[in-house]
Amino acid sequence: MLKNDQLDQWDRDNFFHPSTHLAQHARGESPNRIVTGGSGVHIEDRDGNRLLDAFAGLYCVNVGYGRSEIAEAIAAQAKELAYYHAYVGHGTEASITLAKMVVERAPDNMSKVYFGLGGSDANETNIKLVWYYNNILGRPGKKKIISRWRGYHGSGLMTGSLTGLELFHKKFDLPLAQVLHTEAPYYYRRADLTMSEEAFSAHCAAELEALIEREGADTIAAFIGEPLLGTGGIVPPPAGYWEAIQAVLDKHDILLIADEVVTGFGRLGTMFGSTHYGIRPDIITIAKGLTSAYAPLSGSIVSDKVWAVLEKGTDENGPIGHGWTYSAHPIGAAAGVANLKLIDSLNLVSNAGETGAYFNAAMKDAIGGHAHVGDVRGEGMMCAVEFIEGKDERRYFDSARKIGPAVSAALLERGVIGRAMPQGDILGFAPPLCLSRAEADEVVGKTADVVKAVL
Ligand code: PLP
Repeated sequence: MLKNDQLDQWDRDNFFHPSTHLAQHARGESPNRIVTGGSGVHIEDRDGNRLLDAFAGLYCVNVGYGRSEIAEAIAAQAKELAYYHAYVGHGTEASITLAKMVVERAPDNMSKVYFGLGGSDANETNIKLVWYYNNILGRPGKKKIISRWRGYHGSGLMTGSLTGLELFHKKFDLPLAQVLHTEAPYYYRRADLTMSEEAFSAHCAAELEALIEREGADTIAAFIGEPLLGTGGIVPPPAGYWEAIQAVLDKHDILLIADEVVTGFGRLGTMFGSTHYGIRPDIITIAKGLTSAYAPLSGSIVSDKVWAVLEKGTDENGPIGHGWTYSAHPIGAAAGVANLKLIDSLNLVSNAGETGAYFNAAMKDAIGGHAHVGDVRGEGMMCAVEFIEGKDERRYFDSARKIGPAVSAALLERGVIGRAMPQGDILGFAPPLCLSRAEADEVVGKTADVVKAVL
């Protein structure tokens, strides 16, 4: 086995890491943990550390680490047929089976699933489908896309634009002109503290409608949103939010894309976040939980309404000019089939709901009253703790103090991985859906220790 020093050197000399402070990493100032194994909710590294991963990688290892059922399905598929493309009607038993399993689990009005590689490319696909849809319907001017500030939809040119976080725009000349942003459903940070949740939801819907009217509904194709804001701070929607938003979109004939890359396949305690919140999407984005990240695979699930237009489009124009070499990759598809079977057989969706509720309540009990804890919020296996300088005014800490990263670093020293979310002092948790109550207690107990020690 190579020595750690040797790997560290190769890492610094050759590896361009994503979402990393490149200069600090090159100087050896940021961690370069070399992860070697994992089992259940734990990962292990080469230095002999065993860590409880309360963020499931990047909220994606939903069934937990080390599942041999998925590994074996991947190996069997690789031996039998590692690759064939899915263009012009080709498929494999794995990709066809997975398509059936996805559509069976999706909300009733969903018709077909297009497979990609990751969440970003799936959202790029969605925007192309929406543009194609409006061109076929003879509405070539209806093309702009609305997303929310604090939304996260990927890192590509279009999807990085849809993302409403400064870090992903800064110095990249984003957002692109076809993208508009509207208010985040961030009740804790509402300007008017006297507003009820319902009133704040109505305000968000009114802001959306004002934007639509300013731009002209005939220029706007779709609205994209995560059922529960994820990377933007793990923010569940306020009461009545989706109902109010849906009414505005229906009124102006604007399609709704539910980005369920994080919430799809059980994380909120229901198979899809859309059903959880009563959303009626026209397209659903899926990725992470589709294979629990055992292999890269994503998807765009399209509704009957969208599908009918796409079909008509190809009768008029020939084959749809959209495809990736790795669309419906057989190894990803085999991983997906084994993963969805495991989610069912281990009852992980109900565990996410029940243990998730226990975890959220325990976190609130343990630290909700602390002077520097402004908010503890979550749903299912998602939980966020927002730190503030002053309780009454919900005052942010000076950003130079980097409270979020400091808290997550202290937690890591105690053997638990939580994520400092990219904007604000927010510590996020999104553990594997197989988390037990004892493991939830460990995360809560160590978080409470850290909050006392650091703040
Ligand atoms: N959409 C949402 C809601 C996400 O959280 C993410 C990634 O975290 C993406 C899209 C992008 O997925 P990927 O990183 O696989 O491209």
